[in-house]
Amino acid sequence: MTITPHGIHHVTAIASDPQSNVDFYTKVLGLRLVKQTVNFDAPHVWHLYYGDEHGSPASILTFFPWPGVTPGREGSGLATATAFSVPPESIGFWHQRALQLGVQVEAPKTTVDSEVLTLFDNDGMRLELVASEGDSRSGWDGVGDIPLQHAVRGLHTVTLSERMLDPTAGMLTELLGMKLSGETSGMASFDMGQGGAGASVQVIGGVQDRGLQAGGTVHHVAFRAPDLATMELWQQELLSRGVSVTQIMDRQYFKSIYFREPGGVLFEIATDDPGFDIDEPLLELGRKLKLPPWLEPSREQIAMSLPRIEV
Ligand code: ZN
Repeated sequence: MTITPHGIHHVTAIASDPQSNVDFYTKVLGLRLVKQTVNFDAPHVWHLYYGDEHGSPASILTFFPWPGVTPGREGSGLATATAFSVPPESIGFWHQRALQLGVQVEAPKTTVDSEVLTLFDNDGMRLELVASEGDSRSGWDGVGDIPLQHAVRGLHTVTLSERMLDPTAGMLTELLGMKLSGETSGMASFDMGQGGAGASVQVIGGVQDRGLQAGGTVHHVAFRAPDLATMELWQQELLSRGVSVTQIMDRQYFKSIYFREPGGVLFEIATDDPGFDIDEPLLELGRKLKLPPWLEPSREQIAMSLPRIEV
């Protein structure tokens, strides 16, 4: 059995103030808030999901906002950059927009493959907008001052920072079916499936200082499984290869398993189905607090303990 995730499913990160998080991702970056729910493992903490209109796999960035959380620090053992795909002619638009809105942003850089704009959210989390040819995904059309032609198309790449590149690269290629697609000194890129936007991982090696996972850093990276039956087989395969993998968790909008890569980054494999319209209509996604059936009995208590947000 070969484990072959066909892309990034979602990235989950830690934020501080939930309102500031909602404002940044919906109003500045123009993503759709597709779900207001709670961390199922700690229901007094929000879990906010952003994505395209449907919350399609490979478009999703999610947050656990935790008011007053210590700021984290980039370093080894963490996913240190989350890149989104934008059309090639849109980098200038996004650079101007970031400057106008007072967002911390660097000057656009041209790499071997593409133009990249680096910016930081209100918690200092590193985001990249990568100019991508041929990304046919449509962005979310719900934000008035972002023309659809410039809208964010979905996730592009996740970058992992590691002390040692080889053990992580080994897991990606030998266990998770990824293909080495590029290598420069101390850095390697890997593709899933057909590769391209939403299906690539970058690993930076030689990062000596250990990262601190806290506010403004990534909590875990999830990869896509087509369905539950496939994921069950992958879970067995991981176990047989000696990887300490969790049981299958019901995340309501997908099913999940978790394990760590050798450098310490928490990986998840999540199913594409059933998706975010399982408990509210597509047109109304993200407007109200949604809870899985097993937390419904505690709704009142949970709602009272959550900091208020306006969307
Ligand atoms: Zn997750």
